[in-house]
Amino acid sequence: MAADYYQTLGVSRGASQEEIKKAYRKLAIKYHPDKNPGDKAAEEKFKEISQAYEVLSNPEERSRYDQFGHEAYTNAGHGGSAYDTRRAQDIFSQFFGGGFGGGGGGFSFEDLFGGGRPRNPNAPVPGDDLRYDMEIDFEDAMYGAEKPVSIPRLESCDACHGSGCEPGSGKKTCPRCGGRGSQTISQGFFSVQQTCPACRGTGQIIEKPCRKCSGQGRVQKRDSFTVRIPPGVDTGSQVRVQGRGGAGLRGGQNGDLYVVFHVRPNRIFSRNGDDLLCEIPVPFSIMANGGVVDVPTIAGKTKMRVPAGSQSGSVLRIKGKGSPNLRRGTRGDLHVRLLVETPVKLTKEQQELLEKFNASLRAANTPRAEGFVKEAKQFLRGDGE
Ligand SMILES: [Zn+2]
Ligand SMILES: [Zn+2]
Repeated sequence: MAADYYQTLGVSRGASQEEIKKAYRKLAIKYHPDKNPGDKAAEEKFKEISQAYEVLSNPEERSRYDQFGHEAYTNAGHGGSAYDTRRAQDIFSQFFGGGFGGGGGGFSFEDLFGGGRPRNPNAPVPGDDLRYDMEIDFEDAMYGAEKPVSIPRLESCDACHGSGCEPGSGKKTCPRCGGRGSQTISQGFFSVQQTCPACRGTGQIIEKPCRKCSGQGRVQKRDSFTVRIPPGVDTGSQVRVQGRGGAGLRGGQNGDLYVVFHVRPNRIFSRNGDDLLCEIPVPFSIMANGGVVDVPTIAGKTKMRVPAGSQSGSVLRIKGKGSPNLRRGTRGDLHVRLLVETPVKLTKEQQELLEKFNASLRAANTPRAEGFVKEAKQFLRGDGE
């Protein structure tokens, strides 16, 4: 028995949920009892992995586990010997989307294990999940929006209701294999069982293929609908639209559509998590004397006090004027970077005024210059030796 759940999954204590999922996926497929029939050690391992995953994938359980440590946590009646293969299997099925028998998530045993199990040719086949990349403006990401989309997808044929049979006709038993779905052919000493090529293993053939879908049961169509963009999405955020993926076959569920957002850069705001940053030009006199400037925020214009003696590049924070959080409904902050605007195209008179002003400066007015000169001297001396 491995000492703790992190070791069982081979991840660090600080592993993200994504890393934990990845580790579980890899190990669970490797040690799944169906892939290791009769191997008791693999089955034990499979149970351990599932148990570790069940705890670590649940943030509440995970923090309890971290707090108490492995010994205390398991002794307190969490998990332990009651953990059976059945439960491990359940977790596995949940993870891979509602089991393999059809329905749900688009995986099958064959996909995971690379064949080995004969597929039931008449079982429902779930539709494919689709991905749709959507480019949106910064404003839409901040305020939320609704966007029309139109995507090509396979839909159940409405002429034959997905059966593939021309209306009024049906299916009949495959004459080639007598409905068994397979045929045995002899090659010298060997006889080989082969999927019936006439009915592709279904045991039935379509009497008259539907004209609209050529007997496929599905047709390619453009699906038009509206996607709701929740406020706070960022590049890489995704929204699942249930049932808008490819159509299932033989009663299988439709797949889902995953809309992945890409937010166009904005000229004023840049983003870091829920915080926004904006740079504003401020006149030298306000930086020196202090004053009030206008600041754009996503909730409209606001006023901000600039303290006297502010330096170019310094950043002030306005709480709660950042991006909305996608899940929590809170808001980040707005960071405002002050940049001195050097005045340009000065008149002769303005230039003279500035020179006069400059001549009046004392060392105490420019502490940075003092310090800089000292450090530069030291550097040059050190460099020269
Ligand atoms: Zn049809
Ligand atoms: Zn056949």
